[in-house]
Amino acid sequence: MRVTICDVGPRDGLQNEPETLATAVRAALVDRLSAARLPRIEAASFVRREAVPQMAGSEEVVASIKRRPGTEYSGLALNERGYERLAAARLDRVNFSLAATESFSRRNANQSREVAVAAAERILERSELPVTVTISVAFGCPFEGRVDPGVVAELAEGLAARAEVVLADTIGVATPSQVRELVTRTHAPGVHLHNTRNTGYANALAALEAGATLLDASCGGLGGCPYAPRATGNIATEDLVYLLENEGVETGVDLDAVIATSAWLEGVLGRRLEGYVYRAGSFPPG
Ligand code: MG
Repeated sequence: MRVTICDVGPRDGLQNEPETLATAVRAALVDRLSAARLPRIEAASFVRREAVPQMAGSEEVVASIKRRPGTEYSGLALNERGYERLAAARLDRVNFSLAATESFSRRNANQSREVAVAAAERILERSELPVTVTISVAFGCPFEGRVDPGVVAELAEGLAARAEVVLADTIGVATPSQVRELVTRTHAPGVHLHNTRNTGYANALAALEAGATLLDASCGGLGGCPYAPRATGNIATEDLVYLLENEGVETGVDLDAVIATSAWLEGVLGRRLEGYVYRAGSFPPG
């Protein structure tokens, strides 16, 4: 069994961190992850600079990356303008994010769900790049509570033929049976999990059991959620790789290289990260 891990640290991770890193440091992070043989990296975000200052200078980041064959570089776009910038920067894949609930769409992306769906449709129509659509708050919403799986299934169904669908537990509220059921029902190939309530890794295994083949994670567990300021972020890439490889699931990722990357990041950010394995080390020690 083999899965694809997408390291979303350089985008989803850093975007939710308080500090804004220099573009050279962000490019260095991407290069360290590709050297660790991550098959996919979400490298940058093409949204308005005023909306997300942490992601300013995405073109510069992408231009300074050393492209590694075998790594697919994706970026986030929320509208056609973002798609155009992303395509001009010559990334390999578009990640479009769509909220499952109206309130989250308005608060997080400043547009109604209907407008967001229409934007997704236009990008799907014109994109020459493969498109991933991440359905955020697919399990729970900070404003609307539990999300009806039927609503998510309907969204996913409308996109499945043209996009790779990723179900996101944006605020980390899901538990394994919910993940198993929604992945089974939607046939979504991907999940994006947060470890906010310490269920992220159990959820990852449940998603794989249900047939998912793509897992988002971030080195060191970088990231968070603006609606849960004290909470942890994405599941950590190195913790996920350690778990999966020992469970007989191939990732192709160089675990020691990811651990070294998180240790480096700890120095860059000047604080301990959320992940466990970069502190404990692998086992048996290499
Ligand atoms: Mg995330």
